Amino acid sequence: MMRSISVLGATGSIGASTLDLIRRNRDAWRVETLTANGNAVELAKLAREFSASVAVVADEAKVPELREALSGSGIEAAGGAPALEEAAARGADFTVAAIVGCAGLAPTMAAIERGGVIALANKEALVSAGEIMTAAVARHGATLLPIDSEHNAIFQCLQGNAVEHVRWITLTASGGPFRDWSWERLSRATPAEAIKHPNWDMGAKISVDSATMFNKGLELIEAHYLFPVGLDRLRIIVHPQSIVHSMVEYRDGSTLAQLGPSDMRVPIASALAWPERMDTPCAPLDLAEIGELTFRKPDEQRFPATRLAREAAQAGGGIPAVLNAANEVAVAAFLDGQIAFTRIAAHVEDVLGSFAPPAPTSLAEVLAVDGEARARARILMEAA
Ligand code: NAD
Ligand code: MG
Repeated sequence: MMRSISVLGATGSIGASTLDLIRRNRDAWRVETLTANGNAVELAKLAREFSASVAVVADEAKVPELREALSGSGIEAAGGAPALEEAAARGADFTVAAIVGCAGLAPTMAAIERGGVIALANKEALVSAGEIMTAAVARHGATLLPIDSEHNAIFQCLQGNAVEHVRWITLTASGGPFRDWSWERLSRATPAEAIKHPNWDMGAKISVDSATMFNKGLELIEAHYLFPVGLDRLRIIVHPQSIVHSMVEYRDGSTLAQLGPSDMRVPIASALAWPERMDTPCAPLDLAEIGELTFRKPDEQRFPATRLAREAAQAGGGIPAVLNAANEVAVAAFLDGQIAFTRIAAHVEDVLGSFAPPAPTSLAEVLAVDGEARARARILMEAA
């Protein structure tokens, strides 16, 4: 049976991995909506290849270019934030939320409100809107499937087990490209060095997050909302090989882990086929070739991000949204050459110290907290 699918953030790294799997299973999927930020040419190319119904650019100024590139195809072209939300709300059996940053929140919420399956890569959206998003999922009878590799691993390890039997959920972290760097060396890290991840090929923002460990911090908060076992049962371990994608330890002492190659097509395929399984072109896991799997404690002195994220999750309310927004601003400034690598976490801590909004109770209030936190982050950055 054919299912319809929308990919929000189709031109990104997760978008490409998703469409690669769809390309190999063309008779199983009908592509509804594909979206991008501003790359109209690439988006149009994908929309034509997959005979999408509609293509949307978030940047309204790119609409003429998109129209031009789609002329004669019969594919609808649109642009701007309202069009993005409308396209997400058209409803598809399956929506992949793969926009980067809080910019993906409103379209992801629009898809959730239509029900269906939402495969979530866009962790910043869940971190910012935690309770509001999980409540909307329940209210609208949607299914939220994590495709972040750690959360997909945990989801798989929890199948058939009641959460009250969980002793620990352990998120693995590669430690990023600067895992073994001294503080002094970290303070001189360049954007080019930060986006060269040893194991994964990802977009620029998450690559920097991986280098600062904010990625793991955001993932801790993501896990807190997806798997309500209590924050004190969530922990992080550094595992440089990125083969064990996360683990669940049960009260009887059994630990279940999910292993696989460092290829996002594995967790994405697990969501696309869930509760069945599908073939992927990914290299089989050759543990004899890999030889060793090693583990160590995270170092929160050099990488304070996980401590900041845990504190934000503990505080709850609008604080995770503040942490996320401040990090987005700081990462953009670092990529732009404006601040040192070690200022990213320091800056997030400064913003968190300056602003404690009341807990948001709606999507609009979350977006207001996000906007206010960004404004404060920019002001504090200029003052520093
Ligand atoms: P990317 O930068 O490669 O792609 C981002 C996509 O979002 C692109 O299609 C881009 O056009 C679109 N986009 C960017 N800004 C936008 C805006 N303001 N409005 C609308 N669309 C916008 O990023 P990615 O690496 O594919 O990551 C996407 C999400 O998935 C992130 O939240 C990331 O944390 C998460 N994730 C990625 C990976 C990975 O391996 N790449 C793994 C786990 C989770
Ligand atoms: Mg991850």
